[in-house]
Amino acid sequence: MSRLAIHGGAPAKSKAFPAWPQHDALEREALLEVLESGNWWRSEGDKTAAFERAFADYHQAKHGIAVTNGTHAIEVALAALDIRPGDEVIVPNATFVATASAALFAGALPRLVDVRADSFCIDPELAEAAINERSKAIIAVHLGGCPADMDALQSIASQHGIALLEDAAHAHGSEWRGRKVGALGRGGTFSFQASKTMTAGEGGIILSDDDDFEVMARSAHDCGRLPGEWFYSHYHYGSNYRLSEWQGAVLLAQLTRLDEQTARRHANGRWLDRQLSQVAGISPQRMDSRATRNGHYAYIFHFNPRQFAGITRQQFEAALEAEGIPTQPPYPPLNKLDLFQSGAYKNRLSGAQARADHAFLRGHFPNSQREFEQTIWITQRALLGDEQDMQEIVAALRKISENASQLT
Ligand SMILES: *Cc1c(COP(=O)(O)O)cnc(C)c1O
Repeated sequence: MSRLAIHGGAPAKSKAFPAWPQHDALEREALLEVLESGNWWRSEGDKTAAFERAFADYHQAKHGIAVTNGTHAIEVALAALDIRPGDEVIVPNATFVATASAALFAGALPRLVDVRADSFCIDPELAEAAINERSKAIIAVHLGGCPADMDALQSIASQHGIALLEDAAHAHGSEWRGRKVGALGRGGTFSFQASKTMTAGEGGIILSDDDDFEVMARSAHDCGRLPGEWFYSHYHYGSNYRLSEWQGAVLLAQLTRLDEQTARRHANGRWLDRQLSQVAGISPQRMDSRATRNGHYAYIFHFNPRQFAGITRQQFEAALEAEGIPTQPPYPPLNKLDLFQSGAYKNRLSGAQARADHAFLRGHFPNSQREFEQTIWITQRALLGDEQDMQEIVAALRKISENASQLT
């Protein structure tokens, strides 16, 4: 029984994982080209437009609209659907705040529903049960890159005549039945923030196959203009969510690595699934058999504290970090955020909706709670590693499993 690194033992990890972000001469030359061209603005340059086309093509989507970040991408998608005060948007309780805050930005109520116990993605049955006459959209989040049940969600959305959006901020290159996610709903949104699997520091994009949705999203992201019309004609309410040429150029370079990196993370993820299923008390996030690829924004697994001497998630993470494995915290359940607990979210609502008692916020979300307290997220760059890197992850987890009682 070897000593845990957190207690002075040798770390399980002997060599460094790949660094993130990654770049080479492609990014450098692309940035210099923008610099010297003098076209730093998307309306004059061609980089951001070329990136939109390339990213949409890669995801088998008809349209792509690049925006300033992934939060804005959701805001613009909701604007394109004409989501307004009084409306409701169904959002999983285990996600980054942006999925819900974008609804509030539109003046609409995010109706939080719990996630599934195995995939930690939105539970389609609970999503359906949450639909009422004010519901306008469901936002599926492919948590950690693991696709949500798109078949069930599509059929619920179409039966009830509401839109299905995808927050694919974790899921660049992930697939559901051989088709890229983010291009399956009415609209899909991505983030290119620094931690994501493609990055320009900040950035985002909206994908869609729907021509009307595209026109409205493009207009909303560009001050309410319409393509081809005079510059100072503004047809809708919009704002400036345009992506710069610097970011468009960097993202074009980043996209050239996405497929190979996604394949590597997916393959390493499936190998870890097999190995870690054999460690008592560990259950990898369950990928549906219809999910054909996981882009792995993170490698997520559940641990049963009873089989780990009752340690907390924070103790588990600290031990894993000491062994040399990078982790990131899971999301706190949205209903527990101060934004919702304090009632501050109501400042974004109006009329009867602002006065209503939203009892669901005090309800039980056992699986979101499990996600927060009992899942470990290994950072995506670790999954870019080689066979030895993966073996060292397994060795670190076995070591913690065998010595968990020393951590309490
Ligand atoms: C990162 C992220 C966003 C927001 O993206 P930003 O580019 O940081 O604004 C939205 N949803 C999820 C699930 C995310 O992880």
